[in-house]
Amino acid sequence: MRTPEQYRAGLAKMRPNLYIGGEKVGRDDPRILPGINVMAVTFEIAQDEKWKGVATATSAYTGKEVNRWAHTPQHPYDLMQKQKMIRLGAQRVGGCIQRCMGHDAITALSISTKEIDDKYGTEYNKRFVDWLSWYQDNDLCAACAQTDMKGDRTKRPSEQVEPGQYVHVDEVTDEGIYVSGCKVCITMAAYADEILVLPTRAMLEGDADWAVAFAIPADDPGIKQVVRPVWLHERKEIESPFCQYGVSDSMIIFDRTFIPKERVFMCREWEFGRRMAMLFADSHRHSYCGCKPAVSDVILGATLLAAEANNIQKVSHVREKMSEYALGSELAFAAGVAAAMYGEKTASGTFFPNAIFANVGRRLMGENIYHEYNMLTEIAGGLAVTMPFEEDFMNPDTKPYMDKYIVRNPKLSSEESHRIWRFVENVSASAMTSWYQIAGVHGGGSPIMETIALNIDYDYNARRNVARYLAGIDKELDQSAELMRQPTFGCNLMQPEPFGDA
Ligand SMILES: Cc1cc2nc3c(=O)[nH]c(=O)nc-3n(C[C@H](O)[C@H](O)[C@H](O)COP(=O)(O)OP(=O)(O)OC[C@H]3O[C@@H](n4cnc5c(N)ncnc54)[C@H](O)[C@@H]3O)c2cc1C
Repeated sequence: MRTPEQYRAGLAKMRPNLYIGGEKVGRDDPRILPGINVMAVTFEIAQDEKWKGVATATSAYTGKEVNRWAHTPQHPYDLMQKQKMIRLGAQRVGGCIQRCMGHDAITALSISTKEIDDKYGTEYNKRFVDWLSWYQDNDLCAACAQTDMKGDRTKRPSEQVEPGQYVHVDEVTDEGIYVSGCKVCITMAAYADEILVLPTRAMLEGDADWAVAFAIPADDPGIKQVVRPVWLHERKEIESPFCQYGVSDSMIIFDRTFIPKERVFMCREWEFGRRMAMLFADSHRHSYCGCKPAVSDVILGATLLAAEANNIQKVSHVREKMSEYALGSELAFAAGVAAAMYGEKTASGTFFPNAIFANVGRRLMGENIYHEYNMLTEIAGGLAVTMPFEEDFMNPDTKPYMDKYIVRNPKLSSEESHRIWRFVENVSASAMTSWYQIAGVHGGGSPIMETIALNIDYDYNARRNVARYLAGIDKELDQSAELMRQPTFGCNLMQPEPFGDA
């Protein structure tokens, strides 16, 4: 497995196809460094003996030890380890660990390519497994480009005035395909090795050209990445780990871009557009059940420090709020565990989380995110947006006053107090704050998408039947379908081996 240094060295060799703020830039542009630092942590943790088995796994295809981000889950334990790995990494970087989209895309592709092949006798699964084995052997990282620009939201892909609102196939040759269109909001694509492109929605027959999935090197000269980096205000003297991290999202433009045949994983099988899109989305919502609790951990931590700096940590309304954070994050985490336990083994061998539990966990946290920032703001007061700049804590004219008056709780030094308020500012009132708020609502699909997913899978009728029975309308009540459903037990959950070929 690669070290963080090897990952960074790989970026240095990539061809420049990034555009930021009107300039064409390389992977050495300082504005994407905060995001690169996040990605480096995912390689660092996998090197740490302490996290072996959490951040690493045994490849289902090659039998070799691989970074868990490149692994297709094979059993419930794998999914639970994934959740732990995400929370571990996300706590380290103070939020989004960014590598889950690529992981969720390989999960979706491992399953859907097999299903397409089973129906049509195509060879997508073999191509995908070859690509994945190479990806794992080289310990690469991938972004997932699912979200299209989408144009007029009331129109299907084939009905758009501009066909490139959704990435689509222009031409198929013996050697491969040519694609055009635009993907948007693609996190970490600027510092990924590969980009996995998947459809974003269900398709009808007329949309067949838009039903396309493939892998492309992130530095392919056939694409342009127009990148929007987000990072924190640089520190002068008061450095902190939180300030090293940030994120970049890319708009990716395909203009008759050539994709060799061996990298094409779906081409015009429109009936599978929805399945592939949902497999990615539901796997991603399961990942959220590990990542959003970590985001909540960071906001809760900031709230605790702010309460301490104000010396109100023992006051009852503060303690009440603390428990609210615990309630949300642990319920979401528990939903992820339940999704793992009630997941299913697919024909491909990949083990897939239960969609209902994954969706409710994700939705709970997505809806809670503004409330969590509100609790932090209530407890912290207004300093987060009014505190003078760091330079004013350094200027000899103002320093003595700043050092004296920044201390509210006399048990804290002026440096500790200053560090706490800078952190609270970074967490609650920075460009990253807005990114996390909007990511909380829309990342992995807007709330309406989770509603749709629940409305498809959730058995509302079973509840109606309970009410009909209790109201005396029906004489019998058959509860077996729902309550006799078994989680995937049958072995010691702490021992992954027995799940092997379950
Ligand atoms: C920070 C961040 C990071 C992200 N990272 C990634 C990534 O790495 N990869 C990736 O693929 N995507 C990524 N996304 C995209 C994310 O999945 C989408 O933002 C999300 O699915 C919502 O899509 P949208 O932004 O196009 O909003 P829309 O789909 O346009 O939704 C906006 C509103 O329009 C409504 N709407 C949409 N269609 C209809 C319709 N037909 N009829 C009625 N109402 C409609 C929706 O309900 C919603 O209320 C990211 C997003 C964010 C914010």
